[in-house]
Amino acid sequence: MPSFVIAEKCDGCKGQDKTACQYICPNDLMVLDREKMKAFNQEAEQCWECYNCVKICPQQAIEVRGYADYVPLGGNVIPMRGTDSIMWTVKFRNGNLKRFKFPIRTTAEGSIDPYGGMPEADYSKIKEPGFFNYDARKE
Ligand code: SF4
Ligand code: SF4
Repeated sequence: MPSFVIAEKCDGCKGQDKTACQYICPNDLMVLDREKMKAFNQEAEQCWECYNCVKICPQQAIEVRGYADYVPLGGNVIPMRGTDSIMWTVKFRNGNLKRFKFPIRTTAEGSIDPYGGMPEADYSKIKEPGFFNYDARKE
């Protein structure tokens, strides 16, 4: 089932350059209608169903559901993010609800050192072939 933006909940990430769902989608499917300040999945059939957008949306405005035109069964999946867990509410097509809660991290928020003690990337070299960041083999 692809992602679906609930327009009433979406605030367009308050008009930032790039919305959270646009930033995270590996397939560049999310677009923002800047007039209405609402995002939408522009090609649901191309959705990888990775649910990154579902999990990152700060407004909990994205759910997972079959679009009524091709899966008119009424089921959906809605996440509720916490700081250390995520709760998935699954609505089955017969109306039954089930909730599943999973931990999402083992370290405190903001405590990760992204460089792991290595120097930060030198962006002046970003266009050099093979450059990523510090390479101890070149020492
Ligand atoms: S991340 Fe959520 S609130 Fe932000 S634009 Fe996308 S759907 Fe809307
Ligand atoms: S579920 Fe994944 S592929 Fe589909 S729109 Fe969201 S981020 Fe993109």
